[in-house]
Amino acid sequence: MKQKAQKVISAKGCVVMPGLINAHTHLPMTLFRDYARDLPYMEWAQRIRKAETKLTHADVRAGARLGALEMIRSGTTSFADMYIYMDEVAKAAEETGMRAALGYGMIEGLNEDPLTKLKNREGFVRKWMVQPTAGLQLCMHLIRRNPVQRNF
Ligand SMILES: [Zn+2]
Repeated sequence: MKQKAQKVISAKGCVVMPGLINAHTHLPMTLFRDYARDLPYMEWAQRIRKAETKLTHADVRAGARLGALEMIRSGTTSFADMYIYMDEVAKAAEETGMRAALGYGMIEGLNEDPLTKLKNREGFVRKWMVQPTAGLQLCMHLIRRNPVQRNF
């Protein structure tokens, strides 16, 4: 049986393949590209951490959108992200139609007291767990950023 497509797209000279999956992202960090890049890791991490405390929701939204657009451009259709203000990352995924596994990184600090942090995470889970393109994930990040494990 021969079937005919409603629309034929010429892929002559192109690669046809499934979308790529980026399994570890912090999309808003696209804003920090090249910032302090010449420093040793621990110094770089301290500089980034200080800069992260100044991020606003609008900053995170802009960085997430930029990161999503760059991934789409390179053929990535799905990603797993953990960062702060994750509603903004979820919105970027929704706006672009990308599939995403999202969660807050389990790190201390970053502009929120523990109760606010817990309340915000619960709100995030309740809001986004029902979205068709966004799944949720538990995000344990670098051990050295976990306050319980600081002696490593
Ligand atoms: Zn990471």
